[in-house]
Amino acid sequence: MQLTVLFPWLIEQLLRLMANPAHLAHAILVHGQAGIGKRALGVAYARALLCESTDAALRAHGGCGECSACLWFDQGNHPDFRKVIPEALAVAEGAELADDAAEPGEPAEGTGSRSKKVPSKEIRVDQIRALHGFMSVATHRGRARVVLMYPLETVNDIGANALLKMLEEPPPNTVFILIADHLGRIPATVLSRCQKVFVATPALPVAAGWLAERGVADPEAALALSGGAPLAALVFAEDEQALASHREFLGFLARPGIEAALAMAEAFGKTPPGPLLRWLQQWVADCITVRLAGRIRYHPAQSKVLAQLAGAARLDALMRLRQRLDAVRRTIDHPLNTRLVLESLLTAYADAMAPTKA
Ligand SMILES: [Zn+2]
Repeated sequence: MQLTVLFPWLIEQLLRLMANPAHLAHAILVHGQAGIGKRALGVAYARALLCESTDAALRAHGGCGECSACLWFDQGNHPDFRKVIPEALAVAEGAELADDAAEPGEPAEGTGSRSKKVPSKEIRVDQIRALHGFMSVATHRGRARVVLMYPLETVNDIGANALLKMLEEPPPNTVFILIADHLGRIPATVLSRCQKVFVATPALPVAAGWLAERGVADPEAALALSGGAPLAALVFAEDEQALASHREFLGFLARPGIEAALAMAEAFGKTPPGPLLRWLQQWVADCITVRLAGRIRYHPAQSKVLAQLAGAARLDALMRLRQRLDAVRRTIDHPLNTRLVLESLLTAYADAMAPTKA
């Protein structure tokens, strides 16, 4: 686990966490949009809590990076720290399978069958139960004991019960840092035991500036692709295919028509619906705000065409379409027929823009 510099938009938040005596709350739940760096914040906070530097400012900024605690932490073997994540994610992060829950010097529970099993996408209950051993002995360094767990949504019901018991009777000096994108998927019993820490999506200029420093040619377009989340935007910006799809999709939105809507639904009918719905939602949002208030949030580069389109569109139909998009996106995780949904939404869009029809 190597922490480089914490993302600039998260530094203030880390300082607030460290400055607030409530950080001794034994469980905090860091939540906010995906792709904005919540995990990096959780890692920096854990490192800050464990750092043994006498310089409080260095500790507050995520650890000095030089004391024994920071060095152990960076090597992934601080004795008072555990990271609990799904096996599949650990593989993606480049870790050895199933070494997260293992006690030093003793075999990890439930990891005997590390043969050819598909890595789990859930945080398994035995990973949570394995924390008992970690928490039943005194801390090695006499400071905090820290458990970092993400994504909390992947803890199943049995695991949530095991976790709840720990949160109800926490050993002293223990801090749980839990991370989730969607609070709605966390059991209310677990939620009630945590101090919630919301991480805001960074402002567009901050996110765009950060992406530009990383050589992203069109940061605003990349952010529009990813709902404003800079880390997700960086992934998109390096994905030529996603960028091409976005260009094609915007091309349609800028020149709407019923026949084109049907063709688009056909062309995009087999792609994951999430990004497409977000693009349409953002475009419709811009149509509405430019019409009502002269403001454009997501597509500053297309301000001229948006103003033209929105000026001629039927506002009531756009408002209805926005409501439908909100409803459809809430059910996005359920299987749906992408082509049919797109067909219905894109023809409704073309219809709202009726004056541009042939
Ligand atoms: Zn340190």
